[in-house]
Parts: sequence; structure tokens; C-alpha cells
Amino acid sequence: MKATIDRVVIVGGGTAGWMAAALIARVIGPRVTVTLVESEEIGIVGVGEATIPPIQHVNAVLGLDEAEFLRETRGTIKLAIRFDDWRALGQSYYHTFGAAGRNTAFCSFHHYWARARRAGVAAGYWDYDLNYLAAREGKFAKIQVGDPMWQLPYAYHFDSSLYGQYLRRYSERAGVTRIEGMVADVRRHDNGDIAALVLKDGREVAGDLFVDCSGARGLLIQRQLNVGYEDWSHWLPCDRAMAVPTARHDATPPYTRSTARTAGWQWRIPLQHRVGNGLVYSSRHLSDDAAAELLLGNLDGKVLGDPRIIPFRTGRARRQWDRNVVAVGLSSGFLEPLESTSIYLIQSAIVRLLHHFPHAGIQPAAVAEYNRQSRIEFETVRDFIILHYHATSRNDSPFWRDVRAATLPDRLAAKIELFRATGALTQDPLDIFMEPSWVQVLMGQGIEAADYHPLADETDLGELTAQLDQLAAMKREPVPNMPAHDQWLRAFGGTA
Ligand code: FAD
Repeated sequence: MKATIDRVVIVGGGTAGWMAAALIARVIGPRVTVTLVESEEIGIVGVGEATIPPIQHVNAVLGLDEAEFLRETRGTIKLAIRFDDWRALGQSYYHTFGAAGRNTAFCSFHHYWARARRAGVAAGYWDYDLNYLAAREGKFAKIQVGDPMWQLPYAYHFDSSLYGQYLRRYSERAGVTRIEGMVADVRRHDNGDIAALVLKDGREVAGDLFVDCSGARGLLIQRQLNVGYEDWSHWLPCDRAMAVPTARHDATPPYTRSTARTAGWQWRIPLQHRVGNGLVYSSRHLSDDAAAELLLGNLDGKVLGDPRIIPFRTGRARRQWDRNVVAVGLSSGFLEPLESTSIYLIQSAIVRLLHHFPHAGIQPAAVAEYNRQSRIEFETVRDFIILHYHATSRNDSPFWRDVRAATLPDRLAAKIELFRATGALTQDPLDIFMEPSWVQVLMGQGIEAADYHPLADETDLGELTAQLDQLAAMKREPVPNMPAHDQWLRAFGGTA
């Protein structure tokens, strides 16, 4: 058995597989060979259309042209997620990618806002958020300024199958070898590490490091290495999704919509050529027939196919790197797409692997660190998702009564308690979501802080009022001149 890692073999050609292939080939391509095995017979999960802003780092590392990327993937811009009926029936809020105002050294903007709001001199929190102001008007423009306060951070919605094909073409140009075939077995080294994939037709694909992107079945990480699965369904009981596309019927909003339903929630993701729709639900609380009726009864635009059911199990592989196998994508775990995090978790796993790449052989310390970081990252996303279900005043169905009453993970319970009592937030360095995200969802779901930081009292109230008025006016100012999202897409990439 060789000590050095020269041959990377990826199993699976979904978003995870092709993203891994493209990034590994781009970053360390000359030092290692990259081979990807996929089976068209099995196919890909074929959903996963909404992203968060770090996807832009992937595109930047790969050197992708943004206009071409949007054309190829029939992509649109995403400034936020609009949450309807989550806090209570009839109420909406946005979780945007923006930040409302500026923090000072020891005191975040939301403390100043909370003080002014109590004094009756502040507008709504979101009135200081450019992403919100542009999103609700259906507008978008690229704003290239250095100061994050005035930026309009964005992500994309895209067709996941087209994205995979786009990355495949990129990867093959970058030297990745693609093998079409069904993996039927593996050959092991004496020490138990994987030596080669054995395909159904008898061919063998040997490698030094295997990236398991085989989807929910976890072909290597579970079926071969049997690392076990941590089940989180007691916190997040939804276990099925039903997806169906519809035709475009209206102007394209620059945001994802998430609407809470009786036993789960419905997504609506606008692409250039269609709208992706789906219902995430708990089979314990809603039958498939009732789910189909609920979903089909809440669609706009012509239905473009039969609803497709995708069962899932929320949780994560107990070790996402084991022996010479690293699980990336659905094989590493599943969290419902409420905050569009799975593609980011793929990206983050690959970047982490590249940081700890075992050029000279697999070191237990690197594997332990990789697994520690992966665990915390998954757990913090899990907690953020649970927050949406926990902090709600809905009690109109058994589902909502059950999710509201569920015991929280300790870290989340402590975080909510701290915010409720003081307005402060703990920030885990591995948490994808920064303070503005937590503040928006905590407040959007109806959790109010009983206090704010005393430093917020040090600014004279008249001065604070003037500053906030000026901030709101400056945030509003660019919006009327921004093009409608569709108009921007046409002008930017000749699309839509
Ligand atoms: P898959 O797409 O399932 O690919 C698995 C690959 O492995 C396939 O190519 C298959 O052929 C291959 N394979 C399997 N077994 C074998 C074998 N024996 N031999 C050879 N090849 C094999 N993520 C987001 O970021 N945003 C979203 O909005 C979002 N929405 C989602 C909605 C739903 C309902 C679901 C279920 C997921 C969603 N996700 C979302 C997650 C996202 O879809 C996945 O993270 C992403 O598609 C990655 O999937 P994958 O590549 O791991 O697996």
C-alpha cells in the first residue's frame, strides 16, 4: 500500500461529485489524478436549487464567468428567503444576506436599534437592510463598493442538473476522468482501507483517497465502512419532500419563498425557465396523498410534471472522514433545505479536505480535526433550522404543537436564552450564519430581547435618531434606480 496520495477517486456525479471534481482538479490537479465514477442508471437526486452567498467563492476559484454561469444553469439572483406563516399565520419576514447597520467595537447594530425602537424613534429593523428593500421591490443591481454596509450580497437559484453538467464540462477540461459504471463492490487493503472500486462489469478503479459522493445511500462511508448515523429526527421530524416544477408565470422575485404549512413547509424557487416547488413534510403528521393535495393546491403556474417523493433522514454520518474515505454531500448527512445550506456544506467539506489534504499519507490528527469541524458545522446549521420550528406561535396543528414542544439541543437553548435576556449572541467560529442572520430569524420568529447593551445608551437619543433616519434614507436611495430583476438578468447575461 502506498503512503502518498496521488489518485483521488470520486464516487457519484451529483452536485457533490462534480463540485468535488472541479475544485480538487482546479486547486491540486497537477499533483493528483482525479477520476469520477457515476451511474446514469442510478441518476442524481436532482433537487437543490437555492444557495447562499459563499457559492461565489466556488465560482471565483474555478474562474467561472458569472454571465455564462447564469446562462448555463438558467440561474437567477437570490437576495433573501421570505418566510411566510412561520411566526404566525398571516405574518412574514425576510432572512436576507445583508446587514442592517454598522456595529461598533463592543456593541452590535441591533442593540442601538433596540434602544431607539423602545424610544419610539426607529423604523422596523428590516427598513435599514438594502437586501430587504431591493428584494421586496423585485429589484437587483450589482453594487461594487468596499464597505459591506452598502453592499447587496447575493447568491443564486439554479437548475441543479444543469449546474452538474456545467461543472462536468469544466472538470473534464481540467483533466478529470469520468467513468460511467455502477459500483458493485470494493476491494480492500489488508488494513481495511479501500483499494479499488469494483464495477458491475468487472472493471476496477484503484485509488488512494476516495470521496464518497454517492448520495443518501453512502456507498462507501456507510455500506462499506459502516460509520453509523446520528439521527436528528426527534428535533426535526420532517422526513419527506415532494417536488414538482411549474412554468414561469410572473416576474422573477430575487428571493426564495418558504411558506409554513400544516405539517411542514413549501418552497418556491424561481429559475429563468421554470419555478421549483416542493413540500417538506413529516410523514407522521401528513400522508403522501394529503401532501400532494396540499402542494398541488398551492401552486401558481402550469404544473410541468408529476410530483416526486424524496424520503430523507435528518442527521449526519458519525464520522465524515473514515480511513481513506471522505463523505461529501448527501452521503455525509442531511438537513432539510430550509436555509439552503446543503450545497454550501458540500463546498465547505471540499475546502476543508483541501486544507487537510493528506499528500503524504493520512494522518489521524488531520482526520480528527476534519471530523471535529464537520460535526460543529452540521450542528450549528441544525440548530439554526430548529430555531424556525421552535420559535413560533403557531399551534394550529399537531405538527406545530409537537415541534414547538420538542426539547432543544443545549447549545441552541443557551443561545436563545442569552439573546432573550440580554440581546447578545454567541458566535461559533464554525457557524455559517453570522449575527445578522440569527438576529433576523430570532426577531422574525417573534423572540424579543428583554435588554440591550448599555453602550447603546451612550449615544444621545437625538443623535441616534438622526443617524438612523439618515441610514434608512441612504439605504432606500439606490432602490428606485435599480432595474427589475428580470431586466437585470436580460441585460447582464442575455438571459431570462
Ligand atoms: P446525488 O445527487 O444523489 O448523487 C449521487 C451520485 O452517486 C449519482 O451520480 C449516482 O449515480 C451516484 N451513485 C450512487 N450509487 C452509485 C453506484 N453504486 N455506482 C455508481 N454511481 C453511484 N441543497 C441546497 O443547497 N439548496 C437547496 O435548495 C436544496 N434543496 C433540496 C431539496 C430536497 C428535497 C433535497 C432532498 C435536497 C435538497 N438540497 C438542497 C440538497 C442537495 O440536493 C444535495 O446536497 C445535492 O444535490 C448533492 O447531492 P449528492 O451529489 O450528494 O447526491
